[in-house]
Amino acid sequence: MEVKEYDIVIIGSGMGGLLCADILSREGFRVCVLEKNKQIGGCLQTFVRDKTIFDSGVHYIGGLGPGQNLFQIFKYLGIIDKLKLQKLEEDCFDRIMIGDEQKDYVFAQGYENFISHLVKDFPGEEKAIRKYCDVIRDICSRFPLYNLRDGGNFSEKTSVIELAVKPFIESLTNNQLLREVLVGNSMLYVLDGEKTPFYVHAMILNSYIESSWKCVDGGSIIARLMAKNIRAHNGVIITKARVDEILVEKGMATSVRLENGQIIHAKRIISNIHPAITLKLAKTDIIRHSYRQRLESMENGIGGFQVNIVFKKNSFPYNKHNYYYKPLGHAWDMPHHTEDNWPLGYALFFSASSKSETFADSLTILACMRFSEVERWAGSFNTVADENERGEDYDAFKKRKAEILIDLAEKKFPGLRNHILNYYTSTPLTYRDYIGSSDGSMYGIVKDAANPMKTFISSRTKVPNLFLTGQNLNLHGVLGTAMSGLVTCASVLESEEIIKKIRNA
Ligand SMILES: Cc1cc2nc3c(=O)[nH]c(=O)nc-3n(C[C@H](O)[C@H](O)[C@H](O)COP(=O)(O)OP(=O)(O)OC[C@H]3O[C@@H](n4cnc5c(N)ncnc54)[C@H](O)[C@@H]3O)c2cc1C
Repeated sequence: MEVKEYDIVIIGSGMGGLLCADILSREGFRVCVLEKNKQIGGCLQTFVRDKTIFDSGVHYIGGLGPGQNLFQIFKYLGIIDKLKLQKLEEDCFDRIMIGDEQKDYVFAQGYENFISHLVKDFPGEEKAIRKYCDVIRDICSRFPLYNLRDGGNFSEKTSVIELAVKPFIESLTNNQLLREVLVGNSMLYVLDGEKTPFYVHAMILNSYIESSWKCVDGGSIIARLMAKNIRAHNGVIITKARVDEILVEKGMATSVRLENGQIIHAKRIISNIHPAITLKLAKTDIIRHSYRQRLESMENGIGGFQVNIVFKKNSFPYNKHNYYYKPLGHAWDMPHHTEDNWPLGYALFFSASSKSETFADSLTILACMRFSEVERWAGSFNTVADENERGEDYDAFKKRKAEILIDLAEKKFPGLRNHILNYYTSTPLTYRDYIGSSDGSMYGIVKDAANPMKTFISSRTKVPNLFLTGQNLNLHGVLGTAMSGLVTCASVLESEEIIKKIRNA
């Protein structure tokens, strides 16, 4: 049996895994990334239907303006100039639709621009809107890494991590409609009113207010560019390499065993997969039962149902902004739909294509869906590339859900159906199977303002040379996961010097 040894083995090639591999390989470590799928990237992957590219988990990205946080990280990696980015409309990156109102509300880029558009629609509420923005900026300033500051201390953020979204928004204004508009794009983190900490809302919204971008022809370019860097720094990426076990001897991780039995040795191991699954792969007494139980008992956020629509050629106009819809009165309970009132909101994303800026190639409509809604097909296995083998009843279920979403979208875009060439759907089962999470959760472990420390996960484990990374650590999203990657790299390097290097890139 073939035996290899690396300085660092990374399990999973999602945003977090690739970022760690890119940074650590340029720091001189011999790195090997092991990815179970044929394609690298995890949620950065794209897929093609009817010659049309779809994103699986990157519809738009914030913080990519010169000097902004993700820009600096991508600049350090040397990829910022190689991304084909399209800036969303300066005066509208998101359109918020509430209930049956014909009017949309606009989120604009740049704080003053953001404020002035909202004040136009809510003229008596300038004070509340300004305070909302001030608090967002204040909270973001308290997270050193978010601002690419090294050092910092935990007390900076302790006073704000227990603030939940709902009570804060309610404290700002009595205007019910404004409250609902301010959390209008909460599909980005699936708002659960009393639970979701305001810092999650703040960090995500701030990055898009600073600047909002789409990757033209899909976000998989981010993964491909990092992969190129890794190989240029002597790193190795092996696809179709599923890790089935992390071997621990005398308290240290020594190697991983692949599905095909191959053993790969490493001085350090970083896991980019869900922390609870990582611990299941590492069978050792060093990781206490109570810690395993704590991770296993953490709640994962809800999954998603997506309708990916291919338009007829040159048929439907392209929009350089996203749409978010919520029925009136359901700002706070998005993940708690029933069979009868589903969906309690949707997000609608046009894909940016190099073929045309006038007409849209495709559109994705995303709504929440619990794993329990598809659990009866959980015994089947498929990937996003081949979603048609779970049986006719599954297909009928998906069709019924898709038609509900398309009907809803038609209220905003009358005649939408006439432009559709084909559509394809995915459920939490799709994501379970191709990302490898246990329940197809979109954004991983749920953060809870009532118990914030319980939902912070360290990049270190009880096994000194086994580290964690990925969206479950700090924050999800391309930006959040990049930040988690930096935390992991700083733990491996036992220094925060890397943050300084990125800041000064
Ligand atoms: C529907 C959806 C829409 C989204 N939209 C946006 C958006 O518009 N903007 C944004 O910024 N973020 C968005 N996100 C979030 C963002 O995509 C994720 O937070 C981020 O990409 C997660 O990265 P990760 O490092 O945690 O890895 P993941 O993407 O979770 O990847 C993990 C990788 O590990 C691999 N793996 C799993 N098990 C094994 C194993 N045993 N052996 C080897 N490999 C394994 C998987 O195949 C996968 O490639 C969206 C997510 C979803 C689901």
